[in-house]
Amino acid sequence: MTSKRKRENTDNSPGSKTTANGDSGGRGSLPRTRPGLEIVATRKDPGKEEDSRPKKKKKDYVPCQPPTITTGQSTMKLSIEWTVEQRTIWEGETRRQIATVRSPFAEQVIGFKPEENPHWSETIPTPPAASILKCSMPITQAPFPDVCFSSVTIFGNVRKEVAEELKAHSESYMALIPFGAGNKIFEQARVLTTATADLVSALANDGTQYSVAAPVQEDAPPHKAWFARPFAMILKDPSPSLRKTLLDTKTVAYRRNGENFAFLSSNIPLSENSWIVCNFKGGPVMNRPEKMTEALTAISRQICQLNGLRSLANRILSKEGVGQSSEERIHVAIAGLSLIYIDRRDEEDREDPVWQLHGKPLTKLDKEHREWLRAVRHVSFFIDSTTELIQERARVGCVWCKSELHTNLNCPLPRVKDWLGPQPPKERLTPEPRDTSSSKEGKRATRKERKGKGKARD
Ligand SMILES: [Zn+2]
Repeated sequence: MTSKRKRENTDNSPGSKTTANGDSGGRGSLPRTRPGLEIVATRKDPGKEEDSRPKKKKKDYVPCQPPTITTGQSTMKLSIEWTVEQRTIWEGETRRQIATVRSPFAEQVIGFKPEENPHWSETIPTPPAASILKCSMPITQAPFPDVCFSSVTIFGNVRKEVAEELKAHSESYMALIPFGAGNKIFEQARVLTTATADLVSALANDGTQYSVAAPVQEDAPPHKAWFARPFAMILKDPSPSLRKTLLDTKTVAYRRNGENFAFLSSNIPLSENSWIVCNFKGGPVMNRPEKMTEALTAISRQICQLNGLRSLANRILSKEGVGQSSEERIHVAIAGLSLIYIDRRDEEDREDPVWQLHGKPLTKLDKEHREWLRAVRHVSFFIDSTTELIQERARVGCVWCKSELHTNLNCPLPRVKDWLGPQPPKERLTPEPRDTSSSKEGKRATRKERKGKGKARD
């Protein structure tokens, strides 16, 4: 039993074919029953002379099952193979080059459903039809990028009772995130909420005067911060067609009484479902697809080899009913992993780019999802014996549209043709001072860092 278990943990070579250990009959779906033997077996009890403790019951070992596919008459087994490909994706009208893991093996694993990454689109988007944006105010019509909001963007520093109500009745609300949202713009919340409510009502054109509420904060924002949470205004009871219009349009940029406004629309997310796994910084990071391919190959290989990650993926995915063995599940975990280059500058305007790692969340459960992210973020990946990838702990993203796919300098929104939203002031393009984090997440990290004597940061 022990030797078989060991085998499961260490045998990582691609193409390794499972039950070569004479373990006949157990290939499969039915776990074998082991009556008798393990129940009477005992082990040493600390503080006692005799071996009186019952032996730990071990779980049945399910050998790796390469998925089988049936083509016509013949059934064949797939070998464990994956490759890293270069692909083009679209962030609105901006073309981006990414590296991505393609695994025909994982695609055949029972229970695994590949999905498209919600942070970008595979094809170039088109603007919504002019007819659905008919309105008394001028509105920008453009193929805006999909922006995928994390639940921290919607609920971060929102008063607890309010956040609970929003989550409990998510179908009755929508989040509208003003362009450049943060504590400073909500100092005059009335102007913003009135303008947004008027636009939404004009757009719906169904005789309803909709109301839009400014966010209610839990804690006071940190001193000097400009873009502190909470961010989202709340629209109550939008009609189904209004909800669809807002989601299809993605970003509404408009002019009202000579003033420019813009906001992004989102449903209220129910769980932490971000596809962003982690960010890497440092020397090896560059905007060259072949380097990204090399790095992603190394990252995926290491994820497959690390026992801690293998057993974690095994535990999480078995709960989700995906796959039958740890080998299958770790390949599901790396399937579709993608690496995207993000141009970034530091406070002194020096180049400081990152590679962002994306992957389909293994589970919808918050706790397990966070556990997986934490585990991957603790690994120091290396491309070769001298090139290490440094994990970036700071959040990477844009203060204007809250996307995590680009930084402030490269926000594609104000660059679209006929942009009617506000223009970001130049002095607010550089990163904010570092001590402005107000989220609970940020606070927790700080405490942890103190405990770990600053080990967590470089
Ligand atoms: Zn942006």
